[in-house]
Amino acid sequence: MRVVNICTATQERSPGTVCLKMAATISSVQCMGKITENEMQRQTDVITSIKPIALPKGVKKLCELCKKPAFMQCLQCRVTFYCGSDHQTSDWEGIHDQICTQLIPLRSPEPHFSTESKRKEHADELFQQKRQLLQLTRAVGQKLLFEGKAEKAIPAVLQSLHFAIEVYGLSSIELVTSYLMLAEACIGLHRLKEAEDYLSQAQWTVLMVPDCDYRIKSQVHRQIGRLCEVKGDYEEALRHLAEDVYHCSIVTSTDDVETSGGYFHMGNIFLKLGKTDKAETLYYRVLKIWHKYLTGIVTFNVEEEEKSSSLLTSPKMINLGKAQEAEAVKVLSAIHAWYSEMSDRHQLEFSYSCKTQALLNFVIGDRSQAKVCAERALEALGDDEKKQHTRRAIASFLNLCRTTPQPSLSRR
Ligand SMILES: [Zn+2]
Ligand SMILES: [Zn+2]
Repeated sequence: MRVVNICTATQERSPGTVCLKMAATISSVQCMGKITENEMQRQTDVITSIKPIALPKGVKKLCELCKKPAFMQCLQCRVTFYCGSDHQTSDWEGIHDQICTQLIPLRSPEPHFSTESKRKEHADELFQQKRQLLQLTRAVGQKLLFEGKAEKAIPAVLQSLHFAIEVYGLSSIELVTSYLMLAEACIGLHRLKEAEDYLSQAQWTVLMVPDCDYRIKSQVHRQIGRLCEVKGDYEEALRHLAEDVYHCSIVTSTDDVETSGGYFHMGNIFLKLGKTDKAETLYYRVLKIWHKYLTGIVTFNVEEEEKSSSLLTSPKMINLGKAQEAEAVKVLSAIHAWYSEMSDRHQLEFSYSCKTQALLNFVIGDRSQAKVCAERALEALGDDEKKQHTRRAIASFLNLCRTTPQPSLSRR
């Protein structure tokens, strides 16, 4: 990680005014690099004391994160600038170390080309590179969000927004994913005004696209619902989550795992409102949906393992994607914690939740933990004669956990 102070000169490299607004928001949000006048002066002194690096004249350099005047420069790529070491460090740790050198051709002056076709070829290459960087920065940001590192995710998600604007333009629906991720990060950090700004951008973009995908509408409503929940506006939150469920069920179904996220958040709100019965109904519905979904995957994977071992081929296992796995862990753990507290009154449901935990662990490759959860499910069921069928089903799954080896493709 190398940086050098620079002379302040050059034009803003922001792809658009929205970006500038976003970046300004981030600077106030993150509070990582608030520079005092003394510090500014100190940095300026340092700048004047070092030999300036050759930069285009007559234009102003701006900080990569907050778009305030820049005083430092990444020595590795020399095309990225910062207001101070705090923002440089945050950017480096969040995303810049992974894209540093790739930014050089994107931010350097266009070379001279002997023919128009060569110039076009170069432009096409840069366009493809921006698309790849969009995917990379989005994936990095998403991963950090899944890991609960909201603050660290912001530089990567901001970069994804910049690349989305450069590739698709300012009013494209492709920007919505980045807006939602930024809103999610800000909600996680309780920076609600900023989250609201990003969600307004997302909503506005969706409104501007008449044939917008229902799935995107659902995601926007879900995030707004979550923001309203955090703000304590439960009525409005429930309204948005109902919209989320409605739009999501059009593209999936009312009993799809994707739709169940809306039920889960609605359940959380009913719980806060003291409407425990409604919350329980929704939580149980979420459990049932995941139970069915995970059972399907377990059945498929076990058959696939058996088939491949007899044919001596590699099994083509179904894995949850990273996003789905993160959601499953979060949602099912929260519901399981609630049923654990209520296990005296909801013994059967608690057992069912243990079984769902067992299925989830089995699918993500932790079969010893799956076994522990299945044993707990069996234990929680008690000796009631009426539950023989359920008992047999759990015992059969437990047997599966004991007899099938840990998959080599385990991601844990
Ligand atoms: Zn800055
Ligand atoms: Zn760099």
